[in-house]
Amino acid sequence: MTTALITGANKGIGYEIARRLGELGITAIVGARDEERGRAAAERLGQPYVRLDVTDEESVRAAAKHIEQEYGVLDILVNNAGIMIWQADPRPSATPVEVFRQVYEVNVFGVVTVTNAMLPLLRRSPAGRIVNMSSELGSLSLAMDPDGPYWPNNYIAYNSAKSALNMITVSYAKELWDTPIKVNAANPGYCATDLNGHTGHRTPAQGAAIAVKLATIGEDGPSGASLQDDGPVPW
Ligand code: NAP
Repeated sequence: MTTALITGANKGIGYEIARRLGELGITAIVGARDEERGRAAAERLGQPYVRLDVTDEESVRAAAKHIEQEYGVLDILVNNAGIMIWQADPRPSATPVEVFRQVYEVNVFGVVTVTNAMLPLLRRSPAGRIVNMSSELGSLSLAMDPDGPYWPNNYIAYNSAKSALNMITVSYAKELWDTPIKVNAANPGYCATDLNGHTGHRTPAQGAAIAVKLATIGEDGPSGASLQDDGPVPW
Protein backbone atom coordinates (compact mmCIF):
# COMPACT_ATOMS: atom_id res chain seq x y z
CA MET A 1 0.00 0.00 0.00
CA THR A 2 1.24 3.48 -0.90
CA THR A 3 0.13 6.28 1.41
CA ALA A 4 -0.01 9.99 0.69
CA LEU A 5 -0.92 13.02 2.78
CA ILE A 6 -2.19 16.10 0.97
CA THR A 7 -2.57 19.27 3.02
CA GLY A 8 -5.49 21.55 2.17
CA ALA A 9 -7.18 18.75 0.25
CA ASN A 10 -10.79 19.65 0.98
CA LYS A 11 -11.04 21.78 -2.17
CA GLY A 12 -9.25 23.27 -5.14
CA ILE A 13 -6.03 21.78 -6.48
CA GLY A 14 -5.40 19.73 -3.31
CA TYR A 15 -8.73 17.96 -3.71
CA GLU A 16 -7.85 17.09 -7.30
CA ILE A 17 -4.41 15.82 -6.27
CA ALA A 18 -6.09 13.52 -3.72
CA ARG A 19 -8.62 12.37 -6.33
CA ARG A 20 -5.97 11.55 -8.92
CA LEU A 21 -3.65 9.81 -6.43
CA GLY A 22 -6.66 7.78 -5.29
CA GLU A 23 -7.36 6.77 -8.90
CA LEU A 24 -3.79 5.48 -9.03
CA GLY A 25 -4.56 3.16 -6.12
CA ILE A 26 -2.79 5.30 -3.55
CA THR A 27 -4.34 5.91 -0.13
CA ALA A 28 -4.68 9.68 -0.31
CA ILE A 29 -5.21 11.08 3.17
CA VAL A 30 -7.21 14.29 2.99
CA GLY A 31 -5.59 16.80 5.34
CA ALA A 32 -7.88 19.71 6.17
CA ARG A 33 -8.20 22.18 9.02
CA ASP A 34 -11.99 22.21 9.12
CA GLU A 35 -13.39 18.89 10.25
CA GLU A 36 -16.74 19.22 8.49
CA ARG A 37 -15.30 20.30 5.14
CA GLY A 38 -12.47 17.81 5.41
CA ARG A 39 -14.66 14.84 6.23
CA ALA A 40 -17.15 15.76 3.49
CA ALA A 41 -14.35 15.92 0.89
CA ALA A 42 -12.80 12.66 2.11
CA GLU A 43 -16.17 10.97 1.93
CA ARG A 44 -16.71 12.15 -1.64
CA LEU A 45 -13.28 10.82 -2.55
CA GLY A 46 -13.64 7.57 -0.61
CA GLN A 47 -10.39 8.41 1.20
CA PRO A 48 -9.40 8.85 4.85
CA TYR A 49 -9.40 12.24 6.56
CA VAL A 50 -7.03 13.71 9.07
CA ARG A 51 -7.51 17.06 10.78
CA LEU A 52 -4.54 19.27 10.17
CA ASP A 53 -4.07 23.02 10.41
CA VAL A 54 -0.57 23.69 9.13
CA THR A 55 -0.26 26.73 11.43
CA ASP A 56 -1.09 24.68 14.53
CA GLU A 57 1.89 22.52 15.53
CA GLU A 58 -0.22 20.50 17.93
CA SER A 59 -2.66 19.46 15.19
CA VAL A 60 0.24 18.60 12.88
CA ARG A 61 1.88 16.44 15.58
CA ALA A 62 -1.46 14.72 16.22
CA ALA A 63 -1.88 14.09 12.47
CA ALA A 64 1.59 12.52 12.27
CA LYS A 65 0.79 10.30 15.26
CA HIS A 66 -2.49 9.25 13.68
CA ILE A 67 -0.78 8.36 10.37
CA GLU A 68 1.90 6.41 12.24
CA GLN A 69 -0.71 4.44 14.17
CA GLU A 70 -2.87 3.74 11.11
CA TYR A 71 -0.20 3.12 8.44
CA GLY A 72 3.23 3.10 10.12
CA VAL A 73 4.75 4.92 7.13
CA LEU A 74 4.15 7.82 4.77
CA ASP A 75 5.27 7.58 1.14
CA ILE A 76 4.12 10.92 -0.25
CA LEU A 77 3.66 14.36 1.32
CA VAL A 78 2.09 17.10 -0.78
CA ASN A 79 2.44 20.48 0.93
CA ASN A 80 -0.48 22.04 -0.91
CA ALA A 81 -2.25 24.23 1.68
CA GLY A 82 -1.79 27.88 0.81
CA ILE A 83 -3.42 31.27 1.08
CA MET A 84 -3.30 34.58 -0.73
CA ILE A 85 -4.52 37.80 0.86
CA TRP A 86 -5.94 40.22 -1.67
CA GLN A 87 -5.40 43.89 -0.88
CA ALA A 88 -7.18 46.95 -2.25
CA ASP A 89 -3.74 48.50 -2.68
CA PRO A 90 -1.32 45.69 -3.52
CA ARG A 91 1.82 47.82 -3.78
CA PRO A 92 4.73 46.45 -1.70
CA SER A 93 5.02 49.76 0.15
CA ALA A 94 1.34 49.55 1.09
CA THR A 95 1.48 45.95 2.31
CA PRO A 96 1.22 45.74 6.10
CA VAL A 97 3.68 43.41 7.78
CA GLU A 98 0.67 41.60 9.25
CA VAL A 99 -0.18 40.40 5.72
CA PHE A 100 3.29 38.87 5.45
CA ARG A 101 2.86 37.20 8.84
CA GLN A 102 -0.44 35.59 7.88
CA VAL A 103 0.75 34.43 4.47
CA TYR A 104 4.09 33.16 5.75
CA GLU A 105 2.41 31.27 8.62
CA VAL A 106 0.63 29.06 6.10
CA ASN A 107 2.72 29.13 2.92
CA VAL A 108 6.18 29.01 4.52
CA PHE A 109 6.23 28.07 8.22
CA GLY A 110 3.35 25.64 7.72
CA VAL A 111 5.34 23.71 5.13
CA VAL A 112 8.33 23.45 7.47
CA THR A 113 6.14 22.36 10.39
CA VAL A 114 4.40 19.64 8.38
CA THR A 115 7.57 18.46 6.64
CA ASN A 116 9.51 18.10 9.89
CA ALA A 117 6.62 16.27 11.56
CA MET A 118 6.17 13.84 8.65
CA LEU A 119 9.84 13.27 7.85
CA PRO A 120 10.34 10.36 10.28
CA LEU A 121 7.45 8.57 8.55
CA LEU A 122 8.72 9.45 5.05
CA ARG A 123 12.14 8.03 5.98
CA ARG A 124 10.45 4.65 6.53
CA SER A 125 9.27 4.62 2.90
CA PRO A 126 11.39 2.95 0.22
CA ALA A 127 10.64 5.90 -2.09
CA GLY A 128 9.55 8.96 -0.13
CA ARG A 129 8.35 11.95 -2.15
CA ILE A 130 7.72 15.52 -0.99
CA VAL A 131 5.97 17.94 -3.32
CA ASN A 132 5.70 21.62 -2.43
CA MET A 133 3.03 23.60 -4.27
CA SER A 134 4.90 26.63 -5.45
CA SER A 135 3.98 29.18 -8.12
CA GLU A 136 5.47 30.93 -11.12
CA LEU A 137 4.88 34.06 -9.01
CA GLY A 138 7.77 32.88 -6.79
CA SER A 139 10.21 32.94 -9.69
CA LEU A 140 12.70 35.83 -9.44
CA SER A 141 13.67 35.49 -13.13
CA LEU A 142 10.08 35.63 -14.38
CA ALA A 143 9.27 38.51 -12.01
CA MET A 144 12.09 40.59 -13.48
CA ASP A 145 11.14 40.08 -17.15
CA PRO A 146 9.56 43.42 -18.12
CA ASP A 147 8.03 41.88 -21.27
CA GLY A 148 6.70 38.79 -19.48
CA PRO A 149 3.22 38.24 -18.07
CA TYR A 150 4.38 38.30 -14.44
CA TRP A 151 5.84 41.82 -14.35
CA PRO A 152 2.53 43.43 -13.21
CA ASN A 153 1.80 40.77 -10.55
CA ASN A 154 3.88 42.37 -7.81
CA TYR A 155 2.21 40.73 -4.78
CA ILE A 156 5.10 40.99 -2.35
CA ALA A 157 3.82 38.76 0.48
CA TYR A 158 2.53 35.84 -1.60
CA ASN A 159 5.28 35.99 -4.21
CA SER A 160 8.14 36.19 -1.71
CA ALA A 161 6.58 33.36 0.31
CA LYS A 162 6.69 31.16 -2.82
CA SER A 163 10.31 32.24 -3.47
CA ALA A 164 11.10 31.18 0.10
CA LEU A 165 9.29 27.90 -0.53
CA ASN A 166 11.53 27.29 -3.54
CA MET A 167 14.64 27.66 -1.37
CA ILE A 168 13.04 25.47 1.30
CA THR A 169 12.51 22.83 -1.40
CA VAL A 170 16.16 22.98 -2.44
CA SER A 171 17.35 22.95 1.19
CA TYR A 172 15.42 19.78 2.09
CA ALA A 173 16.45 18.14 -1.20
CA LYS A 174 20.10 18.69 -0.25
CA GLU A 175 19.67 17.37 3.30
CA LEU A 176 17.94 14.28 1.91
CA TRP A 177 20.22 13.88 -1.14
CA ASP A 178 21.65 10.55 -0.01
CA THR A 179 18.28 9.10 0.92
CA PRO A 180 15.53 7.75 -1.36
CA ILE A 181 13.42 10.87 -0.58
CA LYS A 182 12.96 13.35 -3.41
CA VAL A 183 11.80 16.91 -2.75
CA ASN A 184 10.46 19.04 -5.59
CA ALA A 185 8.38 22.14 -6.20
CA ALA A 186 5.35 21.99 -8.49
CA ASN A 187 3.84 24.92 -10.35
CA PRO A 188 0.20 24.21 -11.17
CA GLY A 189 -0.24 27.26 -13.42
CA TYR A 190 -3.08 29.73 -13.11
CA CYS A 191 -6.08 27.62 -12.03
CA ALA A 192 -9.63 28.69 -11.26
CA THR A 193 -10.01 28.19 -7.49
CA ASP A 194 -11.25 30.08 -4.43
CA LEU A 195 -7.69 31.40 -3.97
CA ASN A 196 -8.07 33.75 -6.94
CA GLY A 197 -11.85 34.16 -7.14
CA HIS A 198 -11.92 31.56 -9.92
CA THR A 199 -10.14 33.82 -12.39
CA GLY A 200 -7.60 31.20 -13.46
CA HIS A 201 -7.72 29.82 -17.00
CA ARG A 202 -6.80 26.25 -16.01
CA THR A 203 -8.89 23.74 -14.11
CA PRO A 204 -7.82 22.50 -10.65
CA ALA A 205 -7.44 19.04 -12.22
CA GLN A 206 -4.97 20.44 -14.76
CA GLY A 207 -3.11 22.13 -11.91
CA ALA A 208 -2.96 18.87 -9.96
CA ALA A 209 -1.25 16.94 -12.77
CA ILE A 210 2.33 18.15 -12.16
CA ALA A 211 2.05 17.53 -8.41
CA VAL A 212 0.81 14.00 -9.06
CA LYS A 213 3.65 13.41 -11.49
CA LEU A 214 6.25 14.55 -8.94
CA ALA A 215 4.53 12.61 -6.15
CA THR A 216 4.89 9.40 -8.14
CA ILE A 217 8.16 10.08 -9.95
CA GLY A 218 10.61 7.19 -10.25
CA GLU A 219 14.03 6.71 -8.70
CA ASP A 220 15.62 8.37 -11.74
CA GLY A 221 13.53 11.53 -11.27
CA PRO A 222 14.84 14.89 -10.09
CA SER A 223 15.17 16.25 -6.56
CA GLY A 224 15.49 19.94 -5.77
CA ALA A 225 13.71 20.92 -9.00
CA SER A 226 10.85 23.27 -9.79
CA LEU A 227 8.62 21.89 -12.50
CA GLN A 228 5.43 22.61 -14.40
CA ASP A 229 3.69 20.56 -17.09
CA ASP A 230 6.09 21.53 -19.88
CA GLY A 231 9.35 21.43 -17.92
CA PRO A 232 11.41 23.44 -15.43
CA VAL A 233 10.23 26.76 -13.99
CA PRO A 234 13.15 29.21 -13.84
CA TRP A 235 14.13 30.05 -10.25
P1 NAP B 1 -7.81 27.00 -2.57
O1 NAP B 1 -8.84 26.42 -3.47
O2 NAP B 1 -8.07 28.27 -1.86
O3 NAP B 1 -7.39 25.85 -1.52
C1 NAP B 1 -6.47 26.11 -0.52
C2 NAP B 1 -6.50 24.99 0.47
O4 NAP B 1 -5.57 25.28 1.52
C3 NAP B 1 -7.87 24.84 1.14
O5 NAP B 1 -8.15 23.47 1.35
C4 NAP B 1 -7.66 25.54 2.46
O6 NAP B 1 -8.55 25.09 3.50
C5 NAP B 1 -6.24 25.11 2.75
N1 NAP B 1 -5.64 25.86 3.85
C6 NAP B 1 -5.48 27.19 3.97
N2 NAP B 1 -4.91 27.48 5.14
C7 NAP B 1 -4.71 26.30 5.79
C8 NAP B 1 -4.18 25.93 7.03
N3 NAP B 1 -3.75 26.85 7.92
N4 NAP B 1 -4.10 24.62 7.35
C9 NAP B 1 -4.55 23.69 6.50
N5 NAP B 1 -5.10 23.96 5.31
C10 NAP B 1 -5.17 25.26 4.96
O7 NAP B 1 -6.42 27.26 -3.36
P2 NAP B 1 -5.70 26.46 -4.54
O8 NAP B 1 -5.66 27.38 -5.71
O9 NAP B 1 -6.23 25.08 -4.70
O10 NAP B 1 -4.22 26.42 -3.96
C11 NAP B 1 -3.52 25.23 -3.62
C12 NAP B 1 -2.03 25.53 -3.66
O11 NAP B 1 -1.62 25.85 -5.00
C13 NAP B 1 -1.62 26.74 -2.81
O12 NAP B 1 -0.39 26.48 -2.18
C14 NAP B 1 -1.45 27.84 -3.84
O13 NAP B 1 -0.56 28.85 -3.41
C15 NAP B 1 -0.89 27.05 -5.01
N6 NAP B 1 -1.07 27.71 -6.31
C16 NAP B 1 -2.31 27.99 -6.79
C17 NAP B 1 -2.41 28.60 -8.05
C18 NAP B 1 -3.76 28.92 -8.64
O14 NAP B 1 -3.78 29.52 -9.74
N7 NAP B 1 -4.86 28.53 -8.04
C19 NAP B 1 -1.27 28.94 -8.78
C20 NAP B 1 -0.02 28.65 -8.25
C21 NAP B 1 0.06 28.02 -7.02
P3 NAP B 1 -9.92 25.87 3.86
O15 NAP B 1 -10.96 25.38 2.90
O16 NAP B 1 -10.16 25.45 5.27
O17 NAP B 1 -9.65 27.35 3.72
